[in-house]
Amino acid sequence: IGASSRQRAWVEIDLAALTHNVRQLKKLLSPKTALMAVVKADAYGHGAVTVAMAVLQAGASWLGVATIPEGIELRAAGITAPILVLGATFAPEQVKEIAYWQLQPTLCSFEAAKLFAQTLTAIDYDGALPVHIKLDTGMSRLGPCWQQAAEFVQLVQSLPHLHIASIYSHLATAECIDQTVLRMQQQRFEQAIAKVKASSKLPLPCLHLANSAATLTDSSLHYDLVRVGLAVYGLYPATHLQSVIELKPTLQVKARVTQVKIIEPGTGVSYGHKFVSDRSLLMAVVGIGYADGVPRNLSNKMTVLIRGQKVPQIGAITMDQLMLDVSAIPDLQPGEIVTLLGKDGDETILADDWAELLNTISWEILCGFKHRLPRVAM
Ligand code: PLP
Repeated sequence: IGASSRQRAWVEIDLAALTHNVRQLKKLLSPKTALMAVVKADAYGHGAVTVAMAVLQAGASWLGVATIPEGIELRAAGITAPILVLGATFAPEQVKEIAYWQLQPTLCSFEAAKLFAQTLTAIDYDGALPVHIKLDTGMSRLGPCWQQAAEFVQLVQSLPHLHIASIYSHLATAECIDQTVLRMQQQRFEQAIAKVKASSKLPLPCLHLANSAATLTDSSLHYDLVRVGLAVYGLYPATHLQSVIELKPTLQVKARVTQVKIIEPGTGVSYGHKFVSDRSLLMAVVGIGYADGVPRNLSNKMTVLIRGQKVPQIGAITMDQLMLDVSAIPDLQPGEIVTLLGKDGDETILADDWAELLNTISWEILCGFKHRLPRVAM
């Protein structure tokens, strides 16, 4: 479906690029390693259901979400693939939702494990729920310390209605050139697994550690499954990983020119008059603003693309609109398309470019695009 001429702003999702990225990632993996596409935060701003269906068809076999409602959205859309909830569960009602919707939870504490067993017993849960043990090997976020792995696994094995489907950990610095912390976490993970193996009679479950950066770094980090977010969306976690595989960005943000007018010298533009024209210029108003996910801190810093040309943004970005200096395109008309992120002619603007201007990361830029922008799958 194309964007209709009455849409003031929208996000385009390139399904062919998504498929390409999944296939490129799969080429890095041995046949025994599964690919989990991380589709939390509305698939990094792309639209979770559309992305989930496309990546599963392209060869991903797992989906990762952060929250239970994110998992329910996928199930309600008819998706039957295994869904791991990466976030913590702390309330009996959440356990019931997980069980009802056949989501797979992360167990990140001894208390959470007991909460699951008690709640599943109370509702007469039939069988064993697949659960995933999360260890803290150095991220210092969720999970008991890696040194408690064997004790934690023993507890979960002793509880009713729980089946350990995997043991995993998350990396804090995989995108850094300096691999000291990465290798320390890997070593801790291996030591924890060795202890679990020595103390348990059951075979080891699925093991996983890698995010996008680790997946691109080396196959010793892949284990049985990799959890890939950013790279599925065609962006690289770091420039030094760009040579590993060719990825294609999957998201473009577009909007329409809504008005074009001449600004006289000395005219202030937008709130606070943070831009004052030093000459007569042609200004365009565009129907997209910070309520759509264009960060206000890009005001007077960003450029956009029109007819394959770079055009500077001027004045404060407002809630629903922003202004451009379009003097270089004297015949510009209302209704013409402005590319804020994406490709137009030979020029491309990536979320990485905005991230650099804002001293943040591309992940945050992608997640910023709001539901107010229709998602158009191409
Ligand atoms: N695994 C976990 C536990 C995560 O929280 C995330 C994302 O933050 C990922 C995997 C995917 O990370 P990335 O987008 O860097 O591939």
